[in-house]
Amino acid sequence: MIIAEQKGIEELIGILEGHKDILVVGCRSCVAICLAGGEKEVGVLSEALRLHSDMRSKGWNISEVTLERACEKEWAYELDQLVEGKDCVISLACGVGAQVIQELFPDVRVVPGLNTSNMGAPEEQGVYNEKCGGCGDCVLHLTGGICPIARCAKSLLNGPCGGSQEGKCEIDPEVPCAWDQIYHSLEKLGRLELMDVPIPPKDWGPSRSGGPRKMVRSEAILTDEQNRMKGGKR
Ligand code: SF4
Ligand code: SF4
Repeated sequence: MIIAEQKGIEELIGILEGHKDILVVGCRSCVAICLAGGEKEVGVLSEALRLHSDMRSKGWNISEVTLERACEKEWAYELDQLVEGKDCVISLACGVGAQVIQELFPDVRVVPGLNTSNMGAPEEQGVYNEKCGGCGDCVLHLTGGICPIARCAKSLLNGPCGGSQEGKCEIDPEVPCAWDQIYHSLEKLGRLELMDVPIPPKDWGPSRSGGPRKMVRSEAILTDEQNRMKGGKR
C-alpha cells in the first residue's frame, strides 16, 4: 500500500490563502489504512479548517467527501457535481489520486493535503515500514523475500556492507540491517547457498531512473466496439 501522512495544518492554511469554496477529498484505500486521508481524517481536517475560518473571519465554505479510490477515474468522476463552484480541492488522497483529480478537473486548483512517502506495510497500529521501491525488476526470489532496494540504506544488491553491526544498520541502531534479515530468511528457507552467488547488476531501465514509466496491458485495452457497448462512459 501507499504510505502518506498529512501536511501540517499551518502549511495548508498558508496554501489556501485567497480561496473561498474548498472541497476536502479523501480516499478509502491506502491512505485510509495509514490513517492519513480516510473519511475520519477528512472530517477532522474539515472541522479544523472551519474553526480556523470562523476564528479568523476567512469566510471559507468547506465541504467534504471521501472517494472509494481517488486514483481511478471511474471513482474520481464522482466529484463531477461536487467540484462545481469550488475554487480549490484539498486532496487527502496520495500523490497519484491528487493528480488524477487535477487531470479530471483542470479548472480547479488541487492542493495536496498529504505528503506521500513510500510503498510499505502496516507492522502494527500506526507503524508502517517501507517495503518496495518499485524498481521494476524484482529480485525477492534471490533475497529471501526481503527487498534490498527499499530496505537496505544503500540499496545493495550484495551485502551486507561493513557497517552492519549485530543485525542493525549503520545509519541507525534502531534500523534492522536488511542484509542481516536476508541472511536469516534464506537460512530459514534452507537457501543459504544464495548468499554465495553474487546478484548481477540490475537492469535499472524499468526503474524510475528511466523516466516516468507506463505499463500497457494490451489484453485489457477495450476495442472501440467494447467501448461503445460500455455505454460511452467517460
Ligand atoms: S526488488 Fe524491486 S520490485 Fe522487488 S520489492 Fe524490491 S524494489 Fe520492489
Ligand atoms: S548495514 Fe545493512 S542495511 Fe545498512 S547499508 Fe549496510 S547492508 Fe544495507
